[in-house]
Amino acid sequence: MDSATIDSVESEFPKSCGVIVPGPGTELHRVMARWSDVGLSRPALIVTPTTREDVIAAIQYATTHGLQVVPGGGGHGVAVPIHSRTLYLNMRMFNHVAVDTTNSLVTFGGGATNEEVLDACVKEGYYTVIANSGAVGMVGMVLGGGFSLFSGMHGLPIDHVESVEVIIASGKVLNLDSSSKGEDGALFNTICGGGNGLGVVTNMTMRAFPITPLKLEEGNKIWTRRLVFPGPAIEDVVKLFLSLTPTPQMQPLLMLVRAPPTAPTPEMPLILLTLTYCGSAHDAELFSREAKLHELRSAISDQTCLTPLGDFFEGTKALNAHGDFKEQHSARTMNLSPTSLVKAFYRWQQFGEEVQDARAHTIALFTMYSPEVTIKNGTCDTNKRKPFLGRNRPFFSQTIKWYSKEETKALADKYSTDMMCIIREDDASSGLRPITLPNNMQIGSDLGEGYSSEMISVMKNLRAVWDERSLFCGLGDKVEKLPTEFAP
Ligand SMILES: Cc1cc2nc3c(=O)[nH]c(=O)nc-3n(C[C@H](O)[C@H](O)[C@H](O)COP(=O)(O)OP(=O)(O)OC[C@H]3O[C@@H](n4cnc5c(N)ncnc54)[C@H](O)[C@@H]3O)c2cc1C
Repeated sequence: MDSATIDSVESEFPKSCGVIVPGPGTELHRVMARWSDVGLSRPALIVTPTTREDVIAAIQYATTHGLQVVPGGGGHGVAVPIHSRTLYLNMRMFNHVAVDTTNSLVTFGGGATNEEVLDACVKEGYYTVIANSGAVGMVGMVLGGGFSLFSGMHGLPIDHVESVEVIIASGKVLNLDSSSKGEDGALFNTICGGGNGLGVVTNMTMRAFPITPLKLEEGNKIWTRRLVFPGPAIEDVVKLFLSLTPTPQMQPLLMLVRAPPTAPTPEMPLILLTLTYCGSAHDAELFSREAKLHELRSAISDQTCLTPLGDFFEGTKALNAHGDFKEQHSARTMNLSPTSLVKAFYRWQQFGEEVQDARAHTIALFTMYSPEVTIKNGTCDTNKRKPFLGRNRPFFSQTIKWYSKEETKALADKYSTDMMCIIREDDASSGLRPITLPNNMQIGSDLGEGYSSEMISVMKNLRAVWDERSLFCGLGDKVEKLPTEFAP
């Protein structure tokens, strides 16, 4: 692209705004840092706003030039495609976080990550309902419902959203909260859980919780016990895992991973059983003893550690790598039998054996939690209208397929479809519908897996009211045909 053209595009934006016009020769990863390459191609423009006015200028530019706006937070989503008619609005500079200890609230910008929010909270002796990865955008997580290690104690992230500042397709700035009426009220509720494609969220305020009542070890350390088993122990580990009764403080996690390159047998299938306890180490040890973990003698390693709450995200850092083709598929179920879980293990193992470039990093994880608070939160007036299905489902199962060659896609898709069928077969035989976490949807996903038909029609109506020209892209939107190149 010649410099006169770039200058003319830049001149349509305020000076405070970063503007990149990637030409055909631009190496995509030099200008776009995202978790996955699925659905990612060269956008028309990358705009990095620093002020609300910059956001409005970007919306106006996109409207005039027939572009679609995709706000980017942590860049960990894969549900919305980025293509040659996309104006990618990189919200990175909106990463301010302010903790109000008087009112137990945390306010953060539309580009703040979970790590930035947690860091600021912990400094003030607080925490909030966060994701398990620090690099995930906080707003991005809330827009698709959210699920957290703290969900047993506090329910869903969306249950704790107090207010939102959003810039809609007309360029108007709206400040919304649970007292907002009519269509404003509906917009506030829908942003909490069904919020993709409704506008650009510039600020969000959530409830924060003091750390002290958790009675953590040494004031702020989370207790974790992790046992590692070899693949052949799967039946015994599954039996033990499913015999555990999660409490609000304790969320057991079973994870299928391959041994790292430095291990004695690299890429060997491993089963990780992790207990994380948000309470005193004494209570955690008690739970762990009653769970009879010591009776499983096949563990390769068994470690207990205390991690400062501020370092909570250290353990998941490897999952945040950018690039390659990755997608998450999740099933939230009422039931999960030992037979299904063991079958899922063998399907995961088989996929790794068959597909070399997916072997090292494709993982599966299964967690169960105590959903009582999530259910209770859903009955109060402020949360009733926030779109989220299946608050009573205690099992959360997920696979992240991760491969490096595009031609692996067909086998990878077959793998994830099989995994979801296996995990859901216990619910299917009880006549229960498949439910996912909207945050884990893919491009063109069936919205019916994340929302009821009533919720879907509210979401559609809102998009028609607030964004009649489809400036923004939402979950489940299909790209009918490859859009034409952008010529500024
Ligand atoms: C490794 C990993 C761990 C995860 N862990 C969890 C977890 O523990 N709990 C959980 O609930 N989810 C989790 N997720 C899913 C994650 O919450 C979703 O993928 C979420 O959409 C990512 O948000 P983002 O801002 O990082 O991604 P992005 O791709 O930047 O954004 C995702 C979507 O949100 C929109 N968006 C982002 N910011 C804004 C904004 N300011 N205004 C308007 N729209 C915006 C984007 O346009 C896009 O549609 C995880 C994902 C990964 C890859």
